[in-house]
Amino acid sequence: MILAIGCLPFLSPAVAAYVCPSCYGLQRVTGSLFVDPAMSVEDRTKLQEVVALAAVQVADFYGSFDHLLAHEFSHVELHAQIGVFRLLMGAIPAWFDEGLAVIVADDPRYLRPGTTSATRCSAEPGGDLPSSPFKWGPAAGKTPGLYAQAACRVMR
Ligand SMILES: [Zn+2]
Repeated sequence: MILAIGCLPFLSPAVAAYVCPSCYGLQRVTGSLFVDPAMSVEDRTKLQEVVALAAVQVADFYGSFDHLLAHEFSHVELHAQIGVFRLLMGAIPAWFDEGLAVIVADDPRYLRPGTTSATRCSAEPGGDLPSSPFKWGPAAGKTPGLYAQAACRVMR
């Protein structure tokens, strides 16, 4: 695992740059937008316009882009606090990561109104939930209530 992490910048520089954009010389334009420092002011402005338009298109389609962002930002922040090494070593199960993101996003698709797990849970976890992120995706595709079950387990 240590060897894999050490080789990551050489095998998949795009993934490594995602983890540490400034390590690759990228410059922050906004909170989550990084660019090559050589990018012209005009191109940066155009890129920001394209990103803003994309956000509007996603919000128009899904109805809310903020929700989506809160869920994904929860993953980003939790992974940053845990650290790449511990994350890759499976320090947190996938169900916890996804359930916590549902709670942070206050996702009404999976949570009922309220302030306690007794009132907020919309689906009781029936058994083991997927621990591996590689198993979570396929399982979530087949089990519509899996995110709700994960959130319920995290709250409890
Ligand atoms: Zn997620």
